[in-house]
Amino acid sequence: MANLIDGKAISKLVREEVARGVGAFKAQYGRVPGLHVVLVGEDPASTVYVRNKEKAAAEVGISGRVHRLPNTTTEEELVGLVRELNQTGDVDGILVQFPVPNGIRQHKVVAATAPSKDVDGLHPESIGALWAGTKGLVPCTPRGCMRLIAETGMPLSGAKAVVIGRSNLVGKPIAGLLLAANATVTLAHSKTQDLPAVCREADVLVAAVGRTKMIHGSWIKPGAVVIDVGMNRDDAGRLCGDVDFESASAVASAITPVPGGVGPMTIAMLLENTLLAALARLTRGSRTLIS
Ligand code: NAP
Repeated sequence: MANLIDGKAISKLVREEVARGVGAFKAQYGRVPGLHVVLVGEDPASTVYVRNKEKAAAEVGISGRVHRLPNTTTEEELVGLVRELNQTGDVDGILVQFPVPNGIRQHKVVAATAPSKDVDGLHPESIGALWAGTKGLVPCTPRGCMRLIAETGMPLSGAKAVVIGRSNLVGKPIAGLLLAANATVTLAHSKTQDLPAVCREADVLVAAVGRTKMIHGSWIKPGAVVIDVGMNRDDAGRLCGDVDFESASAVASAITPVPGGVGPMTIAMLLENTLLAALARLTRGSRTLIS
């Protein structure tokens, strides 16, 4: 039976590490790192996500503000606010909660964000840095996955890793990070031929698809580490992942549950990114942001 990779417990550890880092930052620089979140409109899910981020930041001592804008906000107004935050000294991290209302182009908002404050890691410069192996901020969920893998003790150098899903937000950055850790990476997607056979090669399997329990235990190499990023609902409306946990946990050596796996790591990594961005800005980027 696989060991459970407890994202709740590991995210608590990360938050404690960040809280200590914030204390040390304050002692050295006389202020705490600042995270500004921008929410446009009243999308119920986004409203909850933003409230959770606000609460989590306050708990580790990060200062900040949520800018709540009406859904009549124009692209020009939103980009204007982002540019203003770029120029504000005590703002270290800027996060615009997506999706934004129709009429606002997400890529324009991302491009307007200063790469040094891009705590979501979505700016083209951040993406380029990730693939080039240079300094840059890394998207939160992928960083969370890497931390979970690290906690299993599985050596990545030379391991075969398969990532299913190639979104800019999740699949591609995870593949880039695994490559940077010297894994041999396959990035699979909806056009991949014989996906079960591809998955059976994996020492580390990361599922970021968005399809309820699609990955069965028979697709998993005995002893593999399985990271399930999926957040789906089953027929009974319960939250579940892309992996069929019951059959997979009989074969894998370690596996994340859903809920309680990757999910809790995302906000913890946002807090860590904010601290790293603040440190990098004050130490002129002397610290590598890729982990
Ligand atoms: P997305 O943008 O919809 O991308 C899904 C990817 O899965 C695409 O690359 C797609 O391939 C691939 N795919 C779809 N059906 C497939 C199939 N039958 N076989 C193989 N590949 C298939 O989704 P996302 O934003 O990356 O999110 C993926 C999942 O992670 C979702 O459940 C989402 O809710 C969850 N998520 C969780 C967190 C968290 O904090 N836990 C954060 C972000 C996302 P093509 O490119 O060929 O279409």
